[in-house]
Amino acid sequence: MLNSLRSLLMPDQIRLIRSYLILLAVSGFCEAGTTLLLIPVTQSLMTHAYDRLGSWVSVLTIAVIITCLLRYWQTVRGMRLSVVVLRTVQSRLGQHIVRLPLGWFSGEVSGQVSRCATYGAMGLANALSHLLPALLSDIAVPLLTSGAMMLLDWRLGMVALGGAVGVLIANSRISRAIVKGEAPSHEATVTLNNRVIEFARCQASLRAFCLESATYAPLTQALEAKNAAGQSLLKTTFPKVLISGLSVQFVFAILVGVGLLLTLSGGLGVPRLMAFLVLAARFSSGLAMLGARMGVLGMIRREIERIAAIMNEPTLPEAPRRKNLIAPGAISFRSVDFGFHHGDVVLHDVTFEVTPGSVIGLIGPSGAGKSTLLKLMMRFYDPVKGQILMGGVDLRDLPTDQLMDQIALVSQDVVLFAGSIEDNIRIGNPDASEETWRHAARLARVDALVARRRHGWATQVGEGGCQLSGGERQRIALARALLKNAPILLLDEASSALDALNVAAFQDVVKQLRGKTTIIMITHQLETVMHADHLLTIEAGRIVERGAPADCLTSRGYFDRFCRERRQASGWRLTA
Ligand code: ADP
Repeated sequence: MLNSLRSLLMPDQIRLIRSYLILLAVSGFCEAGTTLLLIPVTQSLMTHAYDRLGSWVSVLTIAVIITCLLRYWQTVRGMRLSVVVLRTVQSRLGQHIVRLPLGWFSGEVSGQVSRCATYGAMGLANALSHLLPALLSDIAVPLLTSGAMMLLDWRLGMVALGGAVGVLIANSRISRAIVKGEAPSHEATVTLNNRVIEFARCQASLRAFCLESATYAPLTQALEAKNAAGQSLLKTTFPKVLISGLSVQFVFAILVGVGLLLTLSGGLGVPRLMAFLVLAARFSSGLAMLGARMGVLGMIRREIERIAAIMNEPTLPEAPRRKNLIAPGAISFRSVDFGFHHGDVVLHDVTFEVTPGSVIGLIGPSGAGKSTLLKLMMRFYDPVKGQILMGGVDLRDLPTDQLMDQIALVSQDVVLFAGSIEDNIRIGNPDASEETWRHAARLARVDALVARRRHGWATQVGEGGCQLSGGERQRIALARALLKNAPILLLDEASSALDALNVAAFQDVVKQLRGKTTIIMITHQLETVMHADHLLTIEAGRIVERGAPADCLTSRGYFDRFCRERRQASGWRLTA
């Protein structure tokens, strides 16, 4: 367990846990030792040795006080440690996840991550503050009491020690079996988490398609699978826990039987038998809880291993130092090949140069690889082959924060954060003056949508911006990107979100920034395409046309078809 913890915690925290474990062991043995003092107290009472009884009661009182103080100290340390560990695990998990390649997120990981960050991290914290102290005490008490029985009568001691070792071995096997049986239940829980997240996120589509049945079949199935896995875990676990409990009672019965037999045969005096019975009761109460606690500890160990597995996922290699950019705003793709999975090719031999301040239009059919090209520019993935340079420096040599300083993005799937319209714009540059952010908002035509709202700029956008339309969200994202004032602006224009106001906003932005900011825009609007200095047409992951819009028109390729389709659709006339 400590090995898995090493990848989650700082070295000084591991040291703190070690010293805490020592404190737990000392405290557990002190508590057990205090129980042992009951032997002389009981014996003095039974033999009417009242002068000795007073001394033993005093010693017992002092031992109880010391044990209480140790317990208090250990509880306070345990609580503090668990808070620190919880915070550390959650923040390190978060820091690690943001450095993972985006490919990692293409699997169903949200349920796993949320379970690790909540249930797993809380389980570890609770283990430190509550489970481990109890567990160590459960181990110390049977060990010490069986030692004490050995002093009373070696035969009783041997029976107790044998019983304790037997129960311990049986419990560790039972615990391993419980942990093994928990795997399907864990899988079912993760799947259920994924379906719940999906259910909450995709309400609009679900209502559109599942209104009649008012149910979401994958969620219902996940719930049923989780219930079935839970019941099966219960079925397999219950008999094991029962056997563990019965084995303790069995050992207790044998101990009492042997004690009585020895007394009846004259081998053990009644005062000793009384002391022995007190010890036997304490011995079995410690053992009784051991099985259940070992099972819970085993499950927590699995949770820690699952968090450690995420922490051990390799991150994108990160450059250590900021670089001097030779030409801020310039972009070069040199013979770039890329595929999301081993063996597939999404981009093939892509080569182009973008000079600072130019406006590049990316066009091509759906699925051609346009958005992937933007993702590579932001280093969401590294190319399989070739090189991408920004400002004259290979992306792999730029630290993430320096790369992100270079780029502002308006993506297709705009994400707004719960807060006001103003908050969402100012994220682009929290230090910008009121005049500057309002100017960016005006340019992106956000003022038009604010004018219609009762609370103006303070209007709340809701979680993910759900209280706004797609077009409105995109204009806010445009204002935010403008405020960032980065040397490169990437616009991935979702055709569905574009109304006349958005088209006008995008065109105004292009006009305003032309010559100052490099703009790479994926566009489906003829009016916007014609504002580009240079077009790159992508088909099936290859650049098939390049040049000024007027030149591309004459080549009678994709762009020519694109223009004719758009003109037919809108009755536009274009003069090249
Ligand atoms: P475009 O933006 O031109 O419509 P994309 O760049 O989004 O196209 O996608 C190019 C290809 O890559 C498509 O075939 C798409 O299905 C695939 N693709 C996109 N994202 C992923 C992903 N995360 N994992 C696997 N394949 C993907």
